[in-house]
Amino acid sequence: MAQERIQILTIGSGPAGYTAVNYASRAGLKPVLYTGGEPGGRLTTTNDVENYPGYPKGISGPEMMVDFPKQAERFGTNIRYGVVTSVDFISYPLKATIDEEKEIIADAVIISTGAKAKIFGYPLNVDKLKEKYFDKVCHLFQRF
Ligand SMILES: Cc1cc2nc3c(=O)[nH]c(=O)nc-3n(C[C@H](O)[C@H](O)[C@H](O)COP(=O)(O)OP(=O)(O)OC[C@H]3O[C@@H](n4cnc5c(N)ncnc54)[C@H](O)[C@@H]3O)c2cc1C
Repeated sequence: MAQERIQILTIGSGPAGYTAVNYASRAGLKPVLYTGGEPGGRLTTTNDVENYPGYPKGISGPEMMVDFPKQAERFGTNIRYGVVTSVDFISYPLKATIDEEKEIIADAVIISTGAKAKIFGYPLNVDKLKEKYFDKVCHLFQRF
């Protein structure tokens, strides 16, 4: 299996991952970020982001998540498409496997893989509910 030695591996390309790499790259640590199966993270699934500081008129989620990688690349983050399929945090340096075909060996790994909504244990049709009240349902689910 191919191996690559790096300083910092960041797993995930949502706001958390991009925030982390901005700090790491500005500190000269040459971070490598793997996007995972959902490049841009969960904000790519929402229309209006009204509460982020720095956007007085609000912004669409997909638009915002196009800007994040541009800023990260400006400071030298290496952004790659790929899924981290396993990690070994027992040995040091740390090891992660990408798409089961490449091994990354890193001094540090930043896990920013987000969260998933927890679904109520009630027998309700979540897909139907989402169709009708998409934003409200998502916000409600995030509280659990
Ligand atoms: C419909 C909806 C509307 C929302 N609206 C707003 C809003 O208006 N304002 C607001 O502040 N927040 C909003 N949120 C919440 C916001 O999207 C999340 O708080 C935010 O995306 C969390 O960022 P994150 O980086 O932690 O994780 P995420 O955005 O969830 O990103 C996780 C990343 O990890 C990656 N990943 C996962 N597993 C792996 C793996 N094995 N290998 C590599 N990568 C992996 C995924 O591909 C993804 O890129 C909304 C969420 C939803 C669903």
